[in-house]
Amino acid sequence: MRLFRRGEPAQPAAAAQLGTLPCSQWQCHEATGLPCTYVDRRRRRCSTAWCPEHRDVVDDRVYCRRHAGIVRALSPIQESTPLPNIDNRAPSLVDWIARDIDDDVRAALRATPFASEASELVTDPVRLVFVGGERQRAWERSWRLADHMGVAIKVTVSVEERNDTEVLIRVGQNLAARMVPPWIEQRQRGEQLSPEEDAAARRRFRESIATAVIEALAREHRVREEQGLV
Ligand SMILES: [Zn+2]
Ligand SMILES: [Zn+2]
Repeated sequence: MRLFRRGEPAQPAAAAQLGTLPCSQWQCHEATGLPCTYVDRRRRRCSTAWCPEHRDVVDDRVYCRRHAGIVRALSPIQESTPLPNIDNRAPSLVDWIARDIDDDVRAALRATPFASEASELVTDPVRLVFVGGERQRAWERSWRLADHMGVAIKVTVSVEERNDTEVLIRVGQNLAARMVPPWIEQRQRGEQLSPEEDAAARRRFRESIATAVIEALAREHRVREEQGLV
């Protein structure tokens, strides 16, 4: 069957274009998949393919959901930045943790003495940053309390590409917590938890991050008070 006649564009937009590969979505039986076009810094390709319904499209290019998230997270000036390895967990882990602790971090920030009537809580989307003297690639998301004077305090969650199982939480410039999520630890140890145990472990993990943030915010405020900065 010819779908496109002469005179019409040869290629429909990536969102609608039909491919010939089996869709990678679980239980989808379509064979209209196009491959995820993600190519990492070692020139390796993502091996998934997606039917029109299950693909994600960024700038008219087909991606799997995970890689679409990474491409979207890169700011326009980072377009030429080499993309993380296809199996690197850092961008998706940061995104996941940030969503999970979002309510807790907002509540903690609003409850601090840093929050004044005039201050606004601003969140920054996931982005790629280069940290330290070695310019390590890391992915981070942050929450800021800011007013017309500038940023009062900032909470950041980040994961470095070279150590993509460890979550770093910073309050201001200081490291408040550094931890490996329980589901990654379990996988590393080959453990199987019941759904209840797993849920409890995830809840404890979230609570320990929240506690670390609250304590670090209090510490930060004390230090600034001592220095006469607040
Ligand atoms: Zn599909
Ligand atoms: Zn992909």
